[in-house]
Amino acid sequence: MAGRIALIEAGGTKFVVGVGDASRQILARTRIDTTRPGETIAATIDWLGAQGDDYSAVGIASFGPLDLDPASPSWGHIRRTVKPHWSGADIAGPLGRALGCPVAINTDVNGAALAESMWGAGAGMESVLYLTVGTGIGGGAVVDGRLIHGVSHPEMGHIRMPRHPGDPGFAGNCPFHGDCLEGLAAGPSIKARWGASLSELPADHAGHGIIAWYLAQAAATFQAIFEPARIILGGGVMATPGLIERVRAEARTASNGYFSGDPEMVIVPPGLGDDTGLLGALALTLVDGHLRRVASG
Ligand code: ZN
Repeated sequence: MAGRIALIEAGGTKFVVGVGDASRQILARTRIDTTRPGETIAATIDWLGAQGDDYSAVGIASFGPLDLDPASPSWGHIRRTVKPHWSGADIAGPLGRALGCPVAINTDVNGAALAESMWGAGAGMESVLYLTVGTGIGGGAVVDGRLIHGVSHPEMGHIRMPRHPGDPGFAGNCPFHGDCLEGLAAGPSIKARWGASLSELPADHAGHGIIAWYLAQAAATFQAIFEPARIILGGGVMATPGLIERVRAEARTASNGYFSGDPEMVIVPPGLGDDTGLLGALALTLVDGHLRRVASG
């Protein structure tokens, strides 16, 4: 793929929009508030248009859930979401038509998983799991250079969980499942229980051990499913000092020596910094099978 590539990290509060190339350079960037779909996407198109008209591809790493079924007439649209105005919004179509080039779209977490597997903490590994633990929990898996997909993208944050013995009273706050992984270990669940973020709690607060335990159970579950060579833990909650070390220690107990990888080696922080979102969008355009021409509309 030669030429310049339009890059969009479509988030719930902002779109980060950039221009990149296949050598991983980000040539320009801006941020646009996420308001209503028509307004936000028009501003994105305007900015990209002002940077030039010679794009060879558009990469979009978006909040979800997304329709990614190639046979679906709403491929590249947001599926039903609690986010006001965005249910059913077409993201891929207007961008592909305005810029006149093929589009690769996937979830932000899948983009990050792919970028980390190509250039970050999973580089050189044939199997990589990326989990982001922040306001929600999401996961993407890359095996032999390809994202794992079923009829749609994974929703790894919603796996069902065993209950920490010291955490019996909290119902969990996932609106769909209550006490799934996201409902027990994402940032809002921490605030709901203890009134502060994990990094704000004292280092000896029981919350640190409880959250580490849940993440370790999840890591052991994903090890059982496909034994990734690396489990990359990113997101705002993972920035808590000492948390990844606690997760490794709990994962060692949870796996009881059964899996091939040592948690010290397998469970790692991300290797890419603040550009992960845009690099995820770029990675999607560089891997076979993701680029599609959108229908003229
Ligand atoms: Zn859930």
